[in-house]
Amino acid sequence: MGKLDLNGRRAVVTGSTSGIGAAVAAALAQAGCSVMLNGFGDSSDIEQARAALAISTGRDIRFHDADMRDPAAIGGLIDAAEAAFGGVDILVNNAGIQHVSPIELFPIQQWNDILAVNLSAAFHGIRRALPGMRDRGWGRIVNTASIHGLVASVDKAAYIAAKHGLVGLTKVVALEAAGSGVTCNAICPGSTHTPLVQTQIELYADQQGLDLETAARERLAAKQPSQAFVKTEDIGALAVFLCSDAAQQITGAALPIDGGWTAQ
Ligand code: NAD
Repeated sequence: MGKLDLNGRRAVVTGSTSGIGAAVAAALAQAGCSVMLNGFGDSSDIEQARAALAISTGRDIRFHDADMRDPAAIGGLIDAAEAAFGGVDILVNNAGIQHVSPIELFPIQQWNDILAVNLSAAFHGIRRALPGMRDRGWGRIVNTASIHGLVASVDKAAYIAAKHGLVGLTKVVALEAAGSGVTCNAICPGSTHTPLVQTQIELYADQQGLDLETAARERLAAKQPSQAFVKTEDIGALAVFLCSDAAQQITGAALPIDGGWTAQ
C-alpha cells in the first residue's frame, strides 16, 4: 500500500451531503475508501450523489440519515457503518451549522443546536468508533473545526465556543489514543464557498445594501489575506493526507487551511 493510498479503508463522513463534507467523502472514495455518507437534504438528490460517487470510484458508498443532534442516532450511524463495512477505520466529524447574532440576542435553541452538532456529535461518534480502531491498531479521526477554533470573530458565540471545544477534544483524543495507531486531528478551514458561507454573504449583502459579488469580496478582504476562498477539494486532499500512513506521527494538531487568516 503506497503512503497516500487508502485502499480498503472504511470511512464515515458526517455532514457529507453538501460542501466540505461532500468533497472530503469524494476524496476519500477516490483514494480507495468505502464511505458512509450522512446529512440532510432531498432524498433523491442524496441518492443521485451517492450513486454517482459509487460509479465514479467503484467503491461501496452508503448513506445514513442520522441527525447529529441525537446521540442515539449517532450511535446508530457508527453501528450501521460497522455492519455494512465490517468496521470503521476513518471517522470525519464534519457536520456543522452556524448562526450569526450578537450574544444578547442569540437564540438559546440555536446555541443548543450548534453545540450539539458542531461539538457534542464528535464526542458521541468518537466514543463509539474509537474502540474498534484501537482493537485493529489503526484509525484516523479528522474533525472539521475552523479558523474559528483558533481565533474569534464577533457575533458567532456558539460556533466559536463549539469549534474551540472541538480543537480541545481533538487534543484529548490524540493523547488518549497515542501509540495505538490511531490519530486525531482537526482541520481548520478559513472561508470556503459553501452553502453555509453563502448564507452569511447574503445576510451581509442585505445589511450593507451590496450585490453578492461585492459582499463576498468585502468579506474575504476583511479576514483572508489570499482574498480567495479555500477550495473544498483542497480540504478533501488534506483529509486524505491526514488519513494516510505518511501522517502517522501527526496527531493532536489543528491545521489551518486559511489563506493566511490566522497568520495575522
Ligand atoms: P454546508 O452547510 O455546505 O454542509 C453542512 C453539512 O452538515 C450538510 O451535509 C448538512 O446536511 C449537515 N448537517 C447539518 N446539520 C446536521 C445534523 N443535525 N445532522 C446531520 N447532518 C447535518 O457547510 P460547510 O461549509 O460544508 O460546513 C462543513 C463543516 O465545515 C462545518 O463543520 C463547518 O463549521 C466547517 N467549516 C466551514 C467553513 C466555511 O467557510 N464554509 C470554514 C470553516 C469550517
